[in-house]
Formats: sequence, C-alpha cells, structure tokens
Amino acid sequence: MKAMILNSISPIEKEPLKWVDLRVPSPGLKEILVKVSVCGVCHTELDEIEGRLLPKLPIVLGHEIVGRVEKLGPGTKKFSLRDRIGIAWINSACGKCHFCLEGNENLCLEYKGTGCHANGGYAEYTVISEDFAYPIPDRFSDSEAAPLLCAGAIGYRDLILSGIKKGQTLGLFGFGASAHIVIQVAKYWGCEIFVFTRSEEHRNLAKKLGAVWAGGPEDEPPEKLRCAIDFTPVGETVPKALRVLEKGGRLVVAVIRKRNPIPPLDYAQLLWDEKEIKSVANITRRDAQEFFPLAAEIPIIPEIQEFKLEEANKVLLLLKQGKIQGAGVLIMPD
Ligand SMILES: [Zn+2]
Ligand SMILES: [Zn+2]
Repeated sequence: MKAMILNSISPIEKEPLKWVDLRVPSPGLKEILVKVSVCGVCHTELDEIEGRLLPKLPIVLGHEIVGRVEKLGPGTKKFSLRDRIGIAWINSACGKCHFCLEGNENLCLEYKGTGCHANGGYAEYTVISEDFAYPIPDRFSDSEAAPLLCAGAIGYRDLILSGIKKGQTLGLFGFGASAHIVIQVAKYWGCEIFVFTRSEEHRNLAKKLGAVWAGGPEDEPPEKLRCAIDFTPVGETVPKALRVLEKGGRLVVAVIRKRNPIPPLDYAQLLWDEKEIKSVANITRRDAQEFFPLAAEIPIIPEIQEFKLEEANKVLLLLKQGKIQGAGVLIMPD
C-alpha cells in the first residue's frame, strides 16, 4: 500500500514525510482492516513531526480517518464488510484502571494515540480495534466527516470542559479547524462568541459563522467573557485570554503542546478572583460518540480543503503558516 511515513523528527520545511510502499497490515483479535478513503490533517501532526510530542518511529501519522471495513479479524462482531467507519485520536486504553472505569479513559496511563503510538491514516489501509471505530452519519461526506473526528470531537470536549451554559459569553483564541467547528456548536447552544485571531481571513470566516465580535489577540472585547478556549500554538495567548475573562471565568487550553513557554502570570491581575485554567488531554470514545449525532443535528458542515496524500508535506507547511481555511483533508490514491 502507498503511505507517507515519518522516519525521524525534523522541521516540516525539510519535507520529512516520505512516499513509500508498505505491506498491508492484517487485523488481529477483535480488529478490523480499514481501507482509508480520506484522512484529515491536524496540528498535532506538526507537533509529532517537529518533536514537541514524540511518536514511536517510524510512524504513519494521521488520526482523522474515514474509510470502509475491508476485512474482519477474529472475534469481531460490531461491523460488516464495507461499513463506513471513522477512527479518532484514541486508539486504545486499558479499560481496567480507575481512569478508564470512571469514564476518563483519555487519562489512562496506557493510552495510545492513533498515528502516534500506532500507525494511522496517512496510508491506504490501517487496522483498529472494533471498539475504537465509530459509524458515521450519512449526512456527511467522507471529507466532511474527517475533521469532525478530531477538530470536532476535541472541540466538543473543550466546550464541555469549559462549563459553558446557554447564553453565556465565550472567547475563542485562534480560529483554525477546531475553532470553526466549536463556534457552530456554541452558537447552537445559544452562546455569544468572541473570536481573537491575527488573520483577517479567519476573522471574516468567524463573523460569517456567527461571531458577535472578532478582533486581534491584543484587542479588548466589548465585555468580559465567562469562558475562553485557547487553540493557538503559542504561550503568549494564555495571559491574553485570562485578561479578558470575568471573575470566576475559566480558560481551557486546547492544544497538546505550546511552541514556546507561557510567560509568567501575574497572580493578582490574571488568576485572582477564582479564575481557572484547564488543559484538555486526548479524547474519550464518548466524546466522538456524543459529538457525531449532535453535528448531524445542527448540522455542522466543516469547511474543507482537499489535497492528495502525497502532498502531505505541503499541507502541513501551509497549516504551520496558518494558510489553511477550515480543515485540510488528504484523499487516498485510487
Ligand atoms: Zn487532531
Ligand atoms: Zn486505563
């Protein structure tokens, strides 16, 4: 099968993903072999490629996978051949530890990420345990469904963790793939959304999607905000987001790694008055399972840009430069 493989950590500018032929994997106990149709491109891949989050090497990246069941491994019973399924960042968890038993399998010490600890979707085929694959509602095309698997499901988790309630004010810092889905859910829930981003294109998209206000990261919004979600890869956004929160407000930091450190936080100005900061780690299966029906009901149709699998280096560079509108999606060769 054709695949884009990462052999060693490198800046994306050096085009480290290589176009190779690999043996098609065979499904083990309770696993299914999936013929990948599309795989979304996520900022986390940049973190893996550039070494801020260390994958097992060599690795096939990609964790927003849409495909069809090609072969059933021994002991499988959930799917039939040709069923359309999605695979997300959560590849496996132990199922026995207290985190798993309490519904926080995202924190399991044996957590494995798709395209990080196990090969992912930058390839024509992949394998996954049937317990970690999800049916996809008919209303989405393959390409539309891909970003919903990470940007969407994690965005949904960000919103749940922010504790936002109907009618409350929400700030979004950065307006990439995840934020442009989050804004649609928050609007559906009756929230007022304020978007902070350097890109004028992204500010325009935010307003088109229902933001009541859009400005730069340094700008003062017209009112203090109840919650904020920081999607940016830089540390400086954290104090900026805390500054616009009202008393008791909560900031959710929605990235796995920041490219540079968070500056010192002035306790009196930024944290006093019961302000909170919470990070988001991984997703649970429940996030994906709850989010898909909601996305179909709203409905959320993600803005996507399609590319060929062999263009993965180029797409990731564009992503690094903030030049992808909505979500980038890789189409498998046919
Ligand atoms: Zn992702
Ligand atoms: Zn566990």
